[in-house]
Amino acid sequence: MHHLDITGLEARYGKNTVLSGIDLSVARGDVIGLIGPSGSGKSTILRVVMGLLPPVSGSVKLDGQPVDYAKAADVRRLRDRIAIVFQQYNLFQNMSVLQNVTITPTKIKKRPKAEVEEEARVLLAKVGLGDKLDSYPDQLSGGQQQRVAIARALALRPEILLLDEVTAALDPELVSEVLDSIRVLANEGMTMMIVSHEMGFIREVASRVVFMASGKIVETGPAAQIFDAPTQPRTQDFVSKIL
Ligand code: ADP
Ligand code: MG
Repeated sequence: MHHLDITGLEARYGKNTVLSGIDLSVARGDVIGLIGPSGSGKSTILRVVMGLLPPVSGSVKLDGQPVDYAKAADVRRLRDRIAIVFQQYNLFQNMSVLQNVTITPTKIKKRPKAEVEEEARVLLAKVGLGDKLDSYPDQLSGGQQQRVAIARALALRPEILLLDEVTAALDPELVSEVLDSIRVLANEGMTMMIVSHEMGFIREVASRVVFMASGKIVETGPAAQIFDAPTQPRTQDFVSKIL
C-alpha cells in the first residue's frame, strides 16, 4: 500500500479545468520531483492534496484511507500528517525565529512547551540556524527566512513534506543554502513532493520525477530517464529547453 495515493484527480478554477486524470502514488521515503512549465498544474496538485482547493473528482488516500475534503475533521487529520512550504515564507514578523517554529505546536496542538522548544532547537540547528533562535525575521536573509519556514513545517512532525518552489523568490546566491537543508531531509528519508525549477537539484535528490503539462502527467520515471531519455515529445521539448 502506498503512503499517499492520488487517483483520477480533477480540479477546476471556476469553469477552467486545470487538473485532469492525475494518478500519482507516493511511498514512504519517496522524493517526488514535480516539474513542468509554468501553469501546468504543479501547485494545484499540492493545493488539492492539502485541502486548499476541493477536487471535482478523483480520490486522495492516505495509507489507504480516502480523504473526504468536505469534512473538516478529515482535512485537519490530513494536515497533521502533511505539511507544505510555499515560495512566500510568510513568517510572523513580530515573533522570534524560535517562536515562529514553536507557536503552532504549542498553541494549536497543545504540546508541552519545553518539549516543543527542544525539538525546535534541533530543527533549527539542522537547517543551519542554531545561532539565530532569538533573531527576528527582518534581521534574516531570504534564504534564512525560508529555512525557518522549513523548520516551522517540520515542527508539525509531518510524515510528508510538500515544497512548492521554495527557492524561487530567493536571490541566486541564497538558493543553495536552502537546497542544502532539503538535501539533508532527503538523506534522512523524509517523504517529499518537491516542485522546483532547480533541475540539477531535482535530478540529484528525486527518487522519481513527474513531468506535467496542461494539467496532466505526461511522463514519470527516474531522473535519469526523464532528463536524459524522455519518451514523450512534450517532455523532450521541455528538457531540451532547460538543460
Ligand atoms: P504551476 O504551479 O505548474 O505553475 P498552477 O497549478 O499554479 O501551475 O496553475 C495551473 C492553472 O491554474 C494555470 O492555468 C493557472 O493560470 C490556473 N490558476 C492557478 N491559480 C489560480 C487561481 N487562484 N484562480 C484561477 N486560476 C488559477
Ligand atoms: Mg506553481
